[in-house]
Amino acid sequence: MTNLKNLRGMVDLLPAQSRGWQKVESIALKHFSRAGLQEIRTPIIEQTELFLRGIGENTDVVGKEMYNFQDRGGRLCTLRPEGTASVARSIVQHGLLNNGPQRLWYRGPMFRYERPQAGRQRQFHQIGVEFVGLASVMSDAEVISIGWDFLKAVGLNDLTLELNSLGSNEDRNIFKEKLKDWLNQRFDLLDEDSQKRINVNPLRILDSKNNSTKELLYEAPSLSEFLSKESKTRFDCLQESLDNLNIPFKINTNLVRGLDYYSHTAFEITSDHLGSQATVCGGGRYDGLISELGGPKAPSIGWAIGMERLIILAGDKILHSESPDVYVIHRGANAEKLALNITCQLRSANLTVELDYSGSSFSKQFKRADKSMAKWAIVIGEEEVSKGQFSMKKLRDNENEVGISQYIFLREEIDQLIKKLID
Ligand code: ATP
Ligand code: MG
Repeated sequence: MTNLKNLRGMVDLLPAQSRGWQKVESIALKHFSRAGLQEIRTPIIEQTELFLRGIGENTDVVGKEMYNFQDRGGRLCTLRPEGTASVARSIVQHGLLNNGPQRLWYRGPMFRYERPQAGRQRQFHQIGVEFVGLASVMSDAEVISIGWDFLKAVGLNDLTLELNSLGSNEDRNIFKEKLKDWLNQRFDLLDEDSQKRINVNPLRILDSKNNSTKELLYEAPSLSEFLSKESKTRFDCLQESLDNLNIPFKINTNLVRGLDYYSHTAFEITSDHLGSQATVCGGGRYDGLISELGGPKAPSIGWAIGMERLIILAGDKILHSESPDVYVIHRGANAEKLALNITCQLRSANLTVELDYSGSSFSKQFKRADKSMAKWAIVIGEEEVSKGQFSMKKLRDNENEVGISQYIFLREEIDQLIKKLID
């Protein structure tokens, strides 16, 4: 019998990593509720048509990356490749906009049939935010700041916010024609993918990863030259608001984003530490989507962060921030009883306690205690138990505390112990 393995690009989240994920999710929960967002959870499977209409048939996602299948009832279904279309569908279906603008967040697995590599999987996870029914440029700045501050709260540094304006539909249509002409004059110099895109989705060529096409595009007409006065003013206002919020940004006039429904603001947050999968957060304004799905006119803006990329960037820091308060070390049968007893009492006092069960030598247990990044070790040996005692040792110092870092307690003195630990 052959051993079964996971499918390519589908990844197990093993115990060693799950703590980091939980930490990020708990920061998200706090951060988003402080910003007045509510969570929405939609199904993982939707009708294929939702994504054809909501993402656009000429995009990579719809054209090449979706997991489509027919269910037993003959319905065409798709494992969701992103969250926005489902959230928009749900808002329309349940008439949520009757209660006013929606400020929502979501999280969960997404599916895209791509070539797996570091930071790129076939099942991956996103955390996303959507402001639906808000047109003001202030909401663009607020949505961006929620994403930016969240990544900072997780401990990420060296991030770059790249910003562009895609203008209104009219601006973009004029630009598309100019760009098509320009590209057609250089047809033979383009890579094959870009050649195919000229007539269906010329804007996407600006986002090409092909090096010679990229070089050629330095000379291409820029969307920024085709923005109407209103679109320009709007973009200036956004930049002013971000300056006001002390969020640094870089204008990237080639930033177009992969999905069809964006207008005006488009942005990405990137990091140099991610190799070629540099984007950790991508988002923008999508004023036409809700009405495209049969809802009212509802200008909207949102972003999605790739959890796997965020976790790569957060590195070990995110694991250590959740280290236990106490690591309990013991040897011998009587010591074991007391160890379990103390562990349970400390946990009842809301302390995080890890109990070593190995029975190995004290030095080995100390090594593990150190690795766990616990602040304190409680040490119980047979001899100490016989005297009704145990000891506590400080493993690491935040401040430069001087003096003794080892304390002896009697087994009845749990209250004093807790007081010491909590101080
Ligand atoms: P990319 O250019 O890297 O393919 P994208 O433009 O297709 O990204 P979006 O649809 O904007 O990505 O999704 C938002 C975020 O979700 C990305 O910035 C990235 O962090 C993450 N993401 C997208 N696709 C994947 C994937 N296959 N595996 C892991 N994370 C992904
Ligand atoms: Mg992609």
